[in-house]
Amino acid sequence: PCTLGVLGGGQLGRMFVQAAQRLGYACAVLEPESHSPAALACPQHIQTDYADPQGLAQLAQRCDAITTEFENVPAEALHWLAQQRPVAPSAAAVALAQDRIAEKAHFSACAPLSGVGPAPYAVIETEADLHAVPVTLLPGILKTARLGYDGKGQQRVHTPAELQAAWQQLGQVPCVLERLLTLQEELSVLVARGRDGQMVHYPPQRNLHRDGILALTQACPGRLAAGLAERAVAASRLIAAQLGYVGVLCIEFFVIDDGSAEGALVLNEMAPRPHNSGHYTLDACDVSQFDLQVRTLAGLPLVAPRQHSPALMLNLLGELWFDAQGQPRSPDWAAVLALPGAHLHLYGKHEARPGRKMGHLTLTGPTPEQVHATARAAAAILGIAPWP
Ligand code: ATP
Ligand code: MG
Ligand code: MG
Repeated sequence: PCTLGVLGGGQLGRMFVQAAQRLGYACAVLEPESHSPAALACPQHIQTDYADPQGLAQLAQRCDAITTEFENVPAEALHWLAQQRPVAPSAAAVALAQDRIAEKAHFSACAPLSGVGPAPYAVIETEADLHAVPVTLLPGILKTARLGYDGKGQQRVHTPAELQAAWQQLGQVPCVLERLLTLQEELSVLVARGRDGQMVHYPPQRNLHRDGILALTQACPGRLAAGLAERAVAASRLIAAQLGYVGVLCIEFFVIDDGSAEGALVLNEMAPRPHNSGHYTLDACDVSQFDLQVRTLAGLPLVAPRQHSPALMLNLLGELWFDAQGQPRSPDWAAVLALPGAHLHLYGKHEARPGRKMGHLTLTGPTPEQVHATARAAAAILGIAPWP
């Protein structure tokens, strides 16, 4: 008889609520939108702005512990809530992940111990910073320090003139310029850490992005060089521990060619919550990333998750709801669900827009080969472009 609260009403909040409900918890969602995925799954919806003091007071009153499902809630809201109730992750950890400048500084500070640093970068806050940028950072990607996601708030630049134009276009807000790296692949690691410091993790999964948005995640442990996987896990655990982090944390890595057989790891960014690349854990693991989020919040024991099946996750983006002429259509879910090992998750969003995350599809099976074959069949049915 305990209520868990979540700030934010997106799909991550929805899957958190569903995991909490399975364990018998009541939930409350604070979210301004009326038809949000989490609010649809939760009878207690406080429909107001994330910074509304009355709404926050109501959430604190109703809930025994509170979490967030996206990193752009005002850190002050979490800070205020934390004075009333246990809040995880902390306002400080979320504030760090909200700001690429602070985030990269933390990564750099951990680098001597973690053995992994961020891509070469420069902070750009003023005209003078812009002119002082070393040419070795070009070509590069200019990223706003705050509020970017799914590749929004980013521009690729090749020359100092393009860099200047891009900074103007992004509104001259604080940014980081990162060198554009040639990526061998992208990985992410999910760790969960409890208030007592106990920590568990999933093995790294491999991610394919298209136009800055996650398109698919492959979770076939054993397919990744063992040394690389170990180093990514060790660095992720260290970063979480150094933050005194409580909750589920996702760390994104690049793998670049450094002449070695395995390649070198570079830190990209972190998310202070369950992550899109961990959605496969719902269907392929005995404990999902949302189960672990509930456990860290409620102070329950953490157990090392076991993956019982190789898996591949395909994101279902809004463009699948339109045909080649741009006319609305309904994807053929029946054909997809006829595939053995297909697990469909739709988030209940009313309006499809290109690039909008409407749901995901996880394919599981006895072998990685079989999972890939099923995923290719599903992609062909849905009109998702094939991958290498
Ligand atoms: P998310 O939705 O994951 O929060 P985001 O908008 O914060 O995304 P990033 O993770 O910074 O964006 O970048 C999105 C993608 O762009 C990366 O996953 C990678 O594919 C590519 N990318 C970003 N930075 C670099 C870089 N320095 N070199 C090469 N590719 C990059
Ligand atoms: Mg990001
Ligand atoms: Mg990212």
